[in-house]
Amino acid sequence: MTLHYAIRPAHPGAHLFHVTVTVDRPDPQGQCFMLPAWIPGSYMIREFARNIVRLTALANDKPVTVEKIDKHTWRCAPVTGELTLAYEVYAWDLSVRAAHLDQTHGFFNGTSIFLLPLGHERAPCRVDIIAPEGAPYAEWKIATGLSPARGTRRGSFGTYVAADYDELIDCPVEMGRFVTGKFAVLGVPHEIVITGAVPRLDMTRLTTDLARICEVQMRMFEPAKRAPRDGAAAPFDRYTFLTLAVGDAYGGLEHRNSTALICRRNDLPFLGMTDSTTGYRSFLGLASHEYFHSWNVKRIKPAAFAPYDLTRENHTRLLWAFEGFTSYYDDLLLARAGLLSEAQYLGTLADTMTTVMQRTGRLKQSVADSSFDAWIKYYRQDENAPNSIVSYYQKGALVALALDLAIRAGTRHKRSLDDVMRHLWQQWKAAEAAGVPYDGVAEDGILAAAEEVTGLKLARSLREWTEGTRDPDFARLLAPFGVSLDTRPAVESPHFALLGIKLAAGETRIAHVFDGTPAQEAGLSGGDVLVALDGLRIGADTLDKLLTRYRPGDLVEVHAFRRDELMRFSARLSSKAPPKLSLAVNTKASPAAARARARWLAA
Ligand code: ZN
Repeated sequence: MTLHYAIRPAHPGAHLFHVTVTVDRPDPQGQCFMLPAWIPGSYMIREFARNIVRLTALANDKPVTVEKIDKHTWRCAPVTGELTLAYEVYAWDLSVRAAHLDQTHGFFNGTSIFLLPLGHERAPCRVDIIAPEGAPYAEWKIATGLSPARGTRRGSFGTYVAADYDELIDCPVEMGRFVTGKFAVLGVPHEIVITGAVPRLDMTRLTTDLARICEVQMRMFEPAKRAPRDGAAAPFDRYTFLTLAVGDAYGGLEHRNSTALICRRNDLPFLGMTDSTTGYRSFLGLASHEYFHSWNVKRIKPAAFAPYDLTRENHTRLLWAFEGFTSYYDDLLLARAGLLSEAQYLGTLADTMTTVMQRTGRLKQSVADSSFDAWIKYYRQDENAPNSIVSYYQKGALVALALDLAIRAGTRHKRSLDDVMRHLWQQWKAAEAAGVPYDGVAEDGILAAAEEVTGLKLARSLREWTEGTRDPDFARLLAPFGVSLDTRPAVESPHFALLGIKLAAGETRIAHVFDGTPAQEAGLSGGDVLVALDGLRIGADTLDKLLTRYRPGDLVEVHAFRRDELMRFSARLSSKAPPKLSLAVNTKASPAAARARARWLAA
């Protein structure tokens, strides 16, 4: 039995997709249909069903009664023969997580679009992707990780197939007039599709750099497979980077053979640009991150995700390994691909350390707890987040760093975290080869794998870093690699250093008040709009200029609006600026340290 879907961008101006799903043999008791409450990779309940506008059911050309039985499930009255549901989906979320449709393009994740007929989870799926009507859309085409059915040319509107619902919803679709860059990596076809105006885009540079990143990753997981004829250098037959370039946004979501990215158009390289800008490096880091997820989380995954329950939160204490390790490798592999210099790489690492060490949330929440509570905390951050939570991305990346360095030093540089990743990857492949369901990584499975691969006793350190809140001793861990850590006061931003606040971008509104700072002591709060300092008006870009005239210990008067009430605060400027960490190669280190560093960072 095959599930038949059809999707048509019926009213691009009204942001409406028309969708149908047909079930040949519906449940005789009354077929139920469910829409996921969340999208894998983004750990928050999003209630995609709220965007379903109208829904009707039809069997034997007659309407069928449908009732809603919970927030995301519909039940049809019992029918014999084919049952079709037709509905509209409102698509106006400009992110990688849901669906978006207007006159310029359409994008959707299946989790926002395709209702699952319960009981048919394993059924193969066919989906007709129908072109919008009218001359303005004549040049629209399709990009997706789904395979075209016989008779449909890849890239054009027509019929696409998926082995089951899980694959169907893991292959987002872009439609519009995008540009495409194609490249092969160890014989595997790859493409990057870019929607949105990007003047004088340097596609050659972009595809050349992406190919280097992809090859480094394939070789990390499959060091033995070197030629196209070896086939399985990658866990997919082809890969697509779906990219939406806009004025200001940044994000990505991983899928089994594609990723959806949203980025700043100015981060992409243009013809004649020869240097490596921070914006471009951050785009490459994003692409590297999502590509690494093809192994780490799309295949190697927590037992809690095998399989996903799309109706509710899926708790695991391991996102520090699946997101944190991926965050560690995204930049590290740029360095190994020659796209970040040693100094640039150490700079990004130091920035991550600084962000984590400046926030007291790391002392109150472990990364394991942060993983478990991602659904209600990391994904729902408020003004107090820096004081109450730790990022399993950032601290998780630092745990990966600490573990990698400890393994390298502890095994005399014979083993590394790469070996642990390859071991986890072999476990997935073994299940796949045996045709048995992959159980996923148990909650203590990262530690078990690391100890098995290295022969080291890692439990105490790893538990302290992940289940506890202890900071790894980075200076000690980095020393054998000839890298020294320096900590000095962060004085670059006076309002942060002297008052202990961060402002919302381009505003005088306080975004965060940090723990134990003069602003918190004085009673200033997130959301307060600063008006004046000692009677002089505060502008978004003038506060720091004003504050540079003062010294730590000075008493200042701050006026701010809280809601519509003007309030006055008295703050004594801090004499203890938050820390700023930097990393540098120690030129006096031994040749052995230089060799160890090269094994870690060099191609
Ligand atoms: Zn990620």
